[in-house]
Amino acid sequence: MILGACTENTDGTGINTGSDHHQERENEQTGSGGQTTTDQNKNEPEKNEQTNQQQEADAPAEPQYKINAETSSVVPIDDANEKVVLLTFDDAPDEYALEMANTLKSMDANAIFFINGHFLESTEGQNMLKKIDDMGFVIGNHTYNHSYLPDLSEQEQRDQIVSLNDTIEDIIGKRPQFFRPPNGANTDFTKKLAEQEGMVSMNWTYGYDYFEPYMDTEKIKEAMISGKGPEVDVPYSLLKPGANLLMHDREWTAAALEDIVTGLRDKGYKIVDPMRIQTIE
Ligand SMILES: [Zn+2]
Repeated sequence: MILGACTENTDGTGINTGSDHHQERENEQTGSGGQTTTDQNKNEPEKNEQTNQQQEADAPAEPQYKINAETSSVVPIDDANEKVVLLTFDDAPDEYALEMANTLKSMDANAIFFINGHFLESTEGQNMLKKIDDMGFVIGNHTYNHSYLPDLSEQEQRDQIVSLNDTIEDIIGKRPQFFRPPNGANTDFTKKLAEQEGMVSMNWTYGYDYFEPYMDTEKIKEAMISGKGPEVDVPYSLLKPGANLLMHDREWTAAALEDIVTGLRDKGYKIVDPMRIQTIE
């Protein structure tokens, strides 16, 4: 099955090596077919075992999903409900990540926040990261400087990834278990390194908030809920079971977030708990 054939939506801006994260050029890799082959759609009674506030809240829960390495979609293990989407937020914690975390928390929706190290150089950034982690969100590595990894030497690639894990560990006491390269651009070296660092690497299956036409609250809301981005040549829907949704720490996305989550749920999708995604042991 090849739903959602590859669409290459580059927005035409030049390669950005990271100083200005707002000009991010995330090559959209919509991947091919995030669907799984199972058709059972069992409504697993999603128990929300908020175990407690003790340390063992960090104890690994039984994984119910894994990330498809090719498509970045979320695949059920065994009989987990397949009608889920994963929410991810890149380039955090800048201006809106904490507000977004609060919105999500109030809706009982979990997510992965992919962090850049340059936001952690201020006490304010460190405090935001701590709060987001304390609220139970999953913290991912998005490189220290939002660098375009293929342009760097191996040593620089290593520094971008490992130094951020060290920094994050200093702040929240644990290292990320997920990695997303800026612009979706891994190298063979970073793929291996991420794994050595104990991180599952993922891109995404759709996201629109970094394309100019969708830098608007109403438009991003519509695009994320429908899965369609006709103004960037995606006239069909990429919303399907296991979709891995890319959003950013941006004003329009923050403003639309509550409606996006509601809209996805109204379509019958559950927001997958990333704590239930298989990691590297
Ligand atoms: Zn990014």
